[in-house]
Amino acid sequence: MNTDVLIIGGGIAGITAAVEAAEVGKDVVLVEREHWLGGRVVQMHKYFPKLCPPVCGLEINFRRIRQNPKIKVLTGASPTKIEGDTGAYKASIIIEPRYVKGDFSELTECADKCPVEVPNRFNFGLSKVKALHIANELAYPFGYFVEKEAVNDPAMKEFAAGCDCIDLDMQPETVEVNAKSIIYATGWEPYDANKLDNLNFGKLDNVVTNMMMERMASAGGPSQGKITRPSDGNPITKAAFVQCAGSRDEKHLPYCSAICCMASLKQNRYIREQYPDAEIHIFFIDARTPGRWEDFLQEVEDDPKTIIHRGKVARIEEAENGMVTLTAENTLTAKLEQVTVDLAILATGMVPNAIKDKPHINLKQDKYGFIENIDNSGVVAAGVAASPKDVASSNEEATGAVARVMKMMGGK
Ligand code: SF4
Repeated sequence: MNTDVLIIGGGIAGITAAVEAAEVGKDVVLVEREHWLGGRVVQMHKYFPKLCPPVCGLEINFRRIRQNPKIKVLTGASPTKIEGDTGAYKASIIIEPRYVKGDFSELTECADKCPVEVPNRFNFGLSKVKALHIANELAYPFGYFVEKEAVNDPAMKEFAAGCDCIDLDMQPETVEVNAKSIIYATGWEPYDANKLDNLNFGKLDNVVTNMMMERMASAGGPSQGKITRPSDGNPITKAAFVQCAGSRDEKHLPYCSAICCMASLKQNRYIREQYPDAEIHIFFIDARTPGRWEDFLQEVEDDPKTIIHRGKVARIEEAENGMVTLTAENTLTAKLEQVTVDLAILATGMVPNAIKDKPHINLKQDKYGFIENIDNSGVVAAGVAASPKDVASSNEEATGAVARVMKMMGGK
C-alpha cells in the first residue's frame, strides 16, 4: 500500500487526524491494534466538554471514515518495523486474524451458541463475554471476532470444529505500507492500580478505577448503566473518590495526568443522578480544574451531600458488609480522617502506550514515555501519545499534526 499519511492508533486523536487528512485530499492508512476503533473514548459513559456519550463524537467520524475512500482502516493491526526517512517511510504492519469467516447473521447464531466465556476486556473484566463477540455497541467495524485468549481453549476448538463460521487456524498477515508521513496517536492506558498496594485494588471488589466507573455507568456496561457495588450488586449509599491514586508520586507516576480531577467531578454527577441521597467523599491534594471547569468544581462543592477532604488517601481496608474504609491525613488540620463507603473509585493517571510499545522509529521520548515533537521529520505525535490531555485537546492536536505533516510534505 502507498499512502500519504500512516496513522498509528485509532483512538480519538488518530480518527480525527485520519478524517482531517483525508478531507483535504490525502490518502490515509489508519492502523489500530484492537479489532475496533475509538480507543478510550468509546469506553466512556460521557465525556467533556459537553458531557455527551461517545456516540455523539464517534458516530459522525465513523460515518466520515466509512464514506471516504481515501481512508483505509486496518484493525487488529500494529507495526512491527518502520524504516526510512522524511517523505519515504516503509512500515511492516502485522494484522491479527478475527478467526471468523461466516456472514453476520450466521455469526450471530454461532455467538449465541458459543460455549466459552472470557473476561470482557472492554469492561475491564467487570463482566464476562462470549469468546465470539462484537466488542461494543459502537464497534467500528461492526463485526464479530474471537478473543485471542480463547483460541487454544479445548471447548472453543470443539465448538469451532462443528461451526462453519469460525476458523481458529487463521494466521496473522503482514502488509507493507509506504508512507510519506506518520502520525503517532498511540494513546494511553490507565496506570496499573494493582501496583498501589496500600489501596488494595484487585483484592477488594468494591475498589475500582475511574475507567471502570465509566463502564459501570454506561448502558452497555456490566450492570446496564446502574452503578452498584461490584461485590454484590447492592445500591450505593456512600462512595469516595481517591484523587492522585498513584499520580504525583515519585514511586509511581510523578506527573499530573491533567484530566482525572475533572473525571471524578463528572463521575460524582453520575452517582448523584442515580442516588440523590448518597453521601460522596472526594479526597484531593488539590483540585486541578483549569479555566471554565472551575464552575464544575463549584457545583460539586455546593452539593451538601458531597464532602471534600484535603488529603491523599494513605490506605483502603476491608470493613464490614463489603464496605471499605479509607484513611487520609487532612493537610489543613493534620488530623487523620476515616470514612467507610460502599465504593471507592481510584482516579488513576494516564500512562502513554509508547512507554511499552516503543515507536519503531527513532523518536525522542521524555522520561515518562511521552513522544516529543521536536524535529521536522515526517513523524508527528498527537493526543496522549505526546502528553496527558482531554478529548478536546487531543482533537485540536490531531488537527495540528495533520497541518504539520502537510507542511513537511510541502503542502502537497
Ligand atoms: Fe491528581 Fe487531579 Fe492531577 Fe489527576 S488531574 S493527577 S487527580 S491533581
